[in-house]
Amino acid sequence: MRVVQKFGGSSLKNVELLRAVARRVHETVQSGHDVVVVVSAMGDTTDELLERAQAVSGGESPSNLDFLMMTGEMQSAALMAMELSRLGTPAQALSGAQAGIYTNREFGQARIHEVKPQLLEKLLAQHTTPVVTGFQGVSADGFYTTLGRGGSDLTAIALASALTADSCEIYSDVAGVFTADPRVVPNARALQSLSYDEMLELASQGAQVLQTQAVLYARQSGVTVQARSTFEPDPGTRIEITDVDDAHPVTAVALDVHLTKLGLVGVPDRPGVAAFACERLAQAGINIDLVFQALSHENARADIALTVADRDRARAEAVCEETLRELGGSALVVDGDIAKVSAVGAGVRNHVGVAATLFRALADASINIQMISTSEIKVSCIVARADATRALNQVHDAFGLG
Ligand code: ASP
Ligand code: MG
Repeated sequence: MRVVQKFGGSSLKNVELLRAVARRVHETVQSGHDVVVVVSAMGDTTDELLERAQAVSGGESPSNLDFLMMTGEMQSAALMAMELSRLGTPAQALSGAQAGIYTNREFGQARIHEVKPQLLEKLLAQHTTPVVTGFQGVSADGFYTTLGRGGSDLTAIALASALTADSCEIYSDVAGVFTADPRVVPNARALQSLSYDEMLELASQGAQVLQTQAVLYARQSGVTVQARSTFEPDPGTRIEITDVDDAHPVTAVALDVHLTKLGLVGVPDRPGVAAFACERLAQAGINIDLVFQALSHENARADIALTVADRDRARAEAVCEETLRELGGSALVVDGDIAKVSAVGAGVRNHVGVAATLFRALADASINIQMISTSEIKVSCIVARADATRALNQVHDAFGLG
């Protein structure tokens, strides 16, 4: 079997951990597998490099910043390859460029456009284990680039695809993807498997298991990813093409407590009003999470409510006030005491009952629903922030996820 194994910074926090990881790779090689190792920088190295750069230049020089940022992964790859060799598994550290990862020139968040793994193939044929620096590549005109924070996941998936590996294992300090955040829902459990789209949806709700770009790449190239813990024996979670399980149309529930609701009350009920309000926010670089228009009042007036991230609150408020003045509306209502509870699952689109189950669960707990939004794979409700934890637990139970 040909296996790509990626280890994140938390699995390589210090030399002791790095040596433990090397032992594990060594054992996999000993048992007869061809392994390509991908490593992140050790612990918080990348953050420290970023701080240093800011102390010097404020990060004004993107190509040089990438040149610096790469060095974290180079250290861990070199140390890992040395330790593997010491254990008796011949290994060679390689940069992203040497591994054949070609990108565009978008420094800091470069996109991979081609992988040419000849050197990797050659080393594997010689029974030398390549240890590739995650998170980096090279542009066609020869400049080093980095792939965005968390980009070592993308390196691993791109290499697994180019090498047609039998498996791509992403090791970190979490035991996979859970049915809910275990810090909020004590009986949450790790999922055996979920689809790329479900993973993307959960990532947008704050699940930080895999880099989003990496999931997109896996979806496009059809690579099955196994996300698992370095420190626990559990098999973790597969992210793959899945069949919908009719008995369980909902895969996981998620909570977002960093949202603010803005209500434009009594704006004119005529074509173009919602477009105008949303365009204004978009121009200010503010992402709208949910948007919703209430039935119009008798006097041809309507209410538009929307939610934005808390960090955009002050700017969104200013834009909405301005919009309200220009359109002529009666009031702006701002409410930061909200939370969004979402049920996510590939089965949502075929199961009308999912929304009803969610609403019933909240109703039974006497939790008021302020806004509702549905998509192909998600149903979300806005509730009071004080009810958030109770709501999430209630919904998790209602879908039988515990
Ligand atoms: N070291 C980089 C980061 O911290 C890349 C990675 O960890 O995947 O963002
Ligand atoms: Mg990292």
